[in-house]
Amino acid sequence: MHNLIQELRGNIRVFARIRPFLPNDKAGEDAEPCIVPNSETSLKIITNNEQNVKDVFSVDHIFPPSDSQEQVFTEVSDFVQSALDGYNVCLFSYGQTGSGKTYTMQGSSNECQMRGIIPRAIEQVSEYKAQLECDGWQYTMQVSYLEIYNETIHDLLGKNDGNKHKHEVKTSKDENERYVSDITMSTLDPSDVQAINKIMRKASKHRSTARTEMNDRSSRSHSVFTLHMSALHIKNRLSLKGALNLVDLAGSERLDRSKSTGDRAKETMAINKSLSALTRVFSAISMKSSHIPFRDSKLTKLLEPSFSGTGKTLMLVNLSPTEMSLEESLCSLRFASNVKQCTLGKAKRFLTYDKSVSIKTRRAVGKKEMTKNSSRKLRPLKSKQITERHRQTSIQSTAENSSEKREGKKKPNRDKKPMWR
Ligand code: ADP
Ligand code: MG
Repeated sequence: MHNLIQELRGNIRVFARIRPFLPNDKAGEDAEPCIVPNSETSLKIITNNEQNVKDVFSVDHIFPPSDSQEQVFTEVSDFVQSALDGYNVCLFSYGQTGSGKTYTMQGSSNECQMRGIIPRAIEQVSEYKAQLECDGWQYTMQVSYLEIYNETIHDLLGKNDGNKHKHEVKTSKDENERYVSDITMSTLDPSDVQAINKIMRKASKHRSTARTEMNDRSSRSHSVFTLHMSALHIKNRLSLKGALNLVDLAGSERLDRSKSTGDRAKETMAINKSLSALTRVFSAISMKSSHIPFRDSKLTKLLEPSFSGTGKTLMLVNLSPTEMSLEESLCSLRFASNVKQCTLGKAKRFLTYDKSVSIKTRRAVGKKEMTKNSSRKLRPLKSKQITERHRQTSIQSTAENSSEKREGKKKPNRDKKPMWR
């Protein structure tokens, strides 16, 4: 049912998060943020000394500085769940360096309260997967974690061999999927906390050993964590595929601003290229242009299935509360407004009826999924067939929805069940 609610609200959403003042901001104790909520869905910009409202921006949801990591996750968890239901989902954090993108995506430590969206998403997936398995679904999950630096893809889960492999974004035969050649796909049991921590440690080690000035580099590279999910329902002969991309973008402040030379100039050009490609993609979508320039950068090429008509996208715009950052914050909010104007088509679920699904083929598929970049051709179910197959469960979901409406509030995520159960 969450999928229906999302469809009504639009499959592209923009949330804004204002971080609290930090000691490094050197703001006085009584300093007030210069970006404050104006209503539930709009932000106003005020300059501290003038108290003048300079601009108002509308978004879909605002997280004020006091909002915790858990409150942020509660709001985005529907999107996470959609990936398990067979959609191509992308959450990306955008903003200048120091605005809280990595804090929001990864968190600041393994300490429970501080964990960001990635570890919380894995935890949610684990709980939900367990529920679905009771209903006869069998899930296979794999993760890939890569970094795009200077328009070059680095495998953060690969062997520590100085990244000898050249990785390219490829398109599957049926054009529905993008994959990266020779990228490591680690099979993941989302309930295995130790295995998850190992993957996260490996990724962060690769990020830091690839170059010494790690922080410097991480603010100039895009990282893409992807949870690839596929499932089979042997009894109902159904097959399902979903992907959850969690993207921590390079700091946006370098756009249009650089006076750098040498390696820095190359970096700047690469960031300019990919962030402005992202801007152009969303401008083209918002203008309903016939050509969307996905191919202009590796990032947009990779994320095309989520950004194009069939996917679901959530932009998290991260903002610093300081007046010093105001110009950058205004740029981020202008881009956010652009994204908000976009409408994607109806998101497509990769749920297919497959006669050949049986225990025998399941084993074969299981093996095949382990190899890199496999893709299976399956016959998409017509919506009528899906409805019939899941008639009973749809009735159950509808009942749940109406009780949600009656209560007039959002139910905790883990109580929700997908329409097709
Ligand atoms: P970015 O990735 O955008 O460059 P970071 O996520 O690294 O920025 O955040 C910069 C600093 O601000 C970090 O020390 C981080 O822990 C802190 N920070 C960011 N957002 C918050 C927040 N909402 N609450 C507390 N600290 C935050
Ligand atoms: Mg960062």
